Amino acid sequence: MKPLLRPDDLIAHVSQITPEFLAARGLRGLVLDLDNTLIPYRSYEDAAEMIAWAADLRGAGIGLYLLSNATAKRAAFWLPKLGFGGVGMAGKPNPRAFRRALHTLGLPAHQVAMVGDQVFTDVLGGNLTGMHTVLVEPLIDNALPHTRLARMVERQVLRRYGYDWQARR
Ligand SMILES: [Mg+2]
Repeated sequence: MKPLLRPDDLIAHVSQITPEFLAARGLRGLVLDLDNTLIPYRSYEDAAEMIAWAADLRGAGIGLYLLSNATAKRAAFWLPKLGFGGVGMAGKPNPRAFRRALHTLGLPAHQVAMVGDQVFTDVLGGNLTGMHTVLVEPLIDNALPHTRLARMVERQVLRRYGYDWQARR
């Protein structure tokens, strides 16, 4: 079994996930974090590029599902714009919400990647559920003290797994 805090892939931006990237890993679906993965933390601004990226993947037959710990209200704002299903208040890293996402996608865990910017919610929950995990660099630094502390610990964890990611805040 792989270490629970270790992502399978570390990428700078979700747009690096293409149908080719997914095919090479045997993946057919993505469970996506919202804040700082798809949309900058707290932003309600235009996200045309992200919406086009998601539409391209769906056009290629990739299943997408939003799994966010943000408020239900914030998730409800973004879901119709993003054009796929999902939930807020997901309670990540609790595997229950991840299993529900897999059920909705109709795919087995090993064919789905959890994609997010946080080791202790996105990567941990994805790994606990038996999914492939992709850690992305956060879109912005949200500067909250508890997030800064989590980032420091994340850096240590990633270094232990041989990921030396200078840019990660
Ligand atoms: Mg996030």
